[in-house]
Amino acid sequence: MRLILIGPPGAGKGTQAMRLADSHKIPHLSTGDMLRAAIADGSDVGKRAQVIMNAGKLVSDDMVNKIVSDRIDRDDCANGFILDGYPRTLAQADSVDEIFADKKIDLDAVVELRVDDDALVDRITGRFLCASCGEGYHDRYKLPVADGICDNCGSSDFKRRPDDVEDTVRVRLFTYYKQTSPLIGYYYARRKLLRVDGMGSINDVSQGIEKVLEHV
Ligand code: AMP
Repeated sequence: MRLILIGPPGAGKGTQAMRLADSHKIPHLSTGDMLRAAIADGSDVGKRAQVIMNAGKLVSDDMVNKIVSDRIDRDDCANGFILDGYPRTLAQADSVDEIFADKKIDLDAVVELRVDDDALVDRITGRFLCASCGEGYHDRYKLPVADGICDNCGSSDFKRRPDDVEDTVRVRLFTYYKQTSPLIGYYYARRKLLRVDGMGSINDVSQGIEKVLEHV
């Protein structure tokens, strides 16, 4: 199955993509994660992306199109994949068509996570993750069971994304509505869009996604 997850920052795309990857045994391809890995490596791509990402803006279409196209060529994507955070512009959506046509693969569905805007800033500014295994936490909604110790791997090292501060989150939201949200109408018109309520618990949202995917 080849899926795109779409929704504003803080909608829960990363969390849900990880769960889908697990249940469908296909990789989760997050362009944000790939760019953060490039920054951590100190690569040229990372250096160019870092300033733009920390400002909450979008890196160039060329850069992400190439990253995604190369990643899809790897063997683990042969049976499908979940794209999280890509495409983010109409130009990138056109590139998806070109990349898929070139590789002779089809897009099965685009899942939109629908959330209340009021919840987003609160969700994002409180989130942090285990620096070792990536397990996600939140200052108010999901603290580690033992204070300062990751529930999943026992590490005591946690980190926050530099772009999860309020001013940057507001720029990211603006960028989403200006550049990414038109993709919802675009995929609706192409009969690919499946809408899911993203406001419930993580389990409820996962169930909602699996339900709409039953008919794909
Ligand atoms: P995310 O982890 O999806 O929230 O992405 C974090 C940041 O990475 C975004 O705010 C952008 O600066 C950059 N980014 C991720 N995916 C894309 C994309 N498809 N196009 C352009 N920039 C991207």
